[in-house]
Amino acid sequence: MIYIDHKYIRLLSSQLSHFKQKADELYHFRCPICGDSQKNQYKARGYVFRSKQSLIFKCHNCGDSRSLGNLIKYVDSTLHSQYVMEKYKSGVSSKTSTPKSEFQFEQPKFTSKLSKLSKLSGAGAVRLSDLPDGHIANQFVENRKLPHDRTRGLYYIDDEEKLELLSHKYKDRIAGHTARLLLPFCDKEGNMTGLTGRALDNKGLRYLTLKFNPDTEPLIFGMENWDGRKPTIVVEGPLDSLFLRNGIAVGGSDFGRLSGLVGKENTTIVFDNEPRNKEIVSSMAKIINAGWTICIWPEKVSEKDINDMVIAGQSAEEIEGMINKNKFTGLQAKFKLNGWKKI
Ligand SMILES: [Zn+2]
Repeated sequence: MIYIDHKYIRLLSSQLSHFKQKADELYHFRCPICGDSQKNQYKARGYVFRSKQSLIFKCHNCGDSRSLGNLIKYVDSTLHSQYVMEKYKSGVSSKTSTPKSEFQFEQPKFTSKLSKLSKLSGAGAVRLSDLPDGHIANQFVENRKLPHDRTRGLYYIDDEEKLELLSHKYKDRIAGHTARLLLPFCDKEGNMTGLTGRALDNKGLRYLTLKFNPDTEPLIFGMENWDGRKPTIVVEGPLDSLFLRNGIAVGGSDFGRLSGLVGKENTTIVFDNEPRNKEIVSSMAKIINAGWTICIWPEKVSEKDINDMVIAGQSAEEIEGMINKNKFTGLQAKFKLNGWKKI
């Protein structure tokens, strides 16, 4: 019944300053909640756009986020009663004429992924694919040259404190208000087990990581899409793993958490390129001793991680090829590590 939402945003439009329809499912106008930019009266940073089966409102000036219904209620309560009535009637008629829910066609795996969606959107996060191109989260994706097909399913939250809603464990424990790009961690079944939030401003910590269930498998990013039968590359950073075909990330340099979950056969461990970092060099030695295959970056690589290499102009395919050409085990790996380290 999204057509009712479209009908009512148009009915409301005469009361919205600088209203414009920008695309099929995207409208923008000056935010009626905060009054929008005080410096520039032409700036319009209130957006209405599609999120799943309805339209939602979001202001990029004040950060307000609410359903279309609540926006209508705020601006025009009479129109809101009509909207509620029409929604109600259409709900009743669609229930009697089409008893099947539209979600019955989805695969079972997708159903469990929906729980991640509803949890995150329930806390006020928005999928990047539901945000306009110029939004700071999409700008970050653009600036970091992250692959769009992989980032569409990531989320944005305008205030990290809202993440407290995701778990009792974090109630009153998140003090900052940083806006973040959210990377949800899921298990193989697609259930969300934690998340990492990358700060989009320079205020808070660069990364904030939450783990929802202490008894669950250790946090590994990308497990829901991982194919254990194919060659696997494991990196430190979740964002770096997005460039790889069958890549996962441990979200740090603790690759020990892979044991029991990811086999050593067919797996390559890729640390960031930090030959001057004592701790990293000693972690690499430990991983080699444990029998893993490891990538030792060639001398010519000066960038710190895969994302920086992409920004410097290399393609994801070239980087994956370079990893495969520079992977070693055992004594050979130890020898290569000794030549590579700069400490
Ligand atoms: Zn606003």
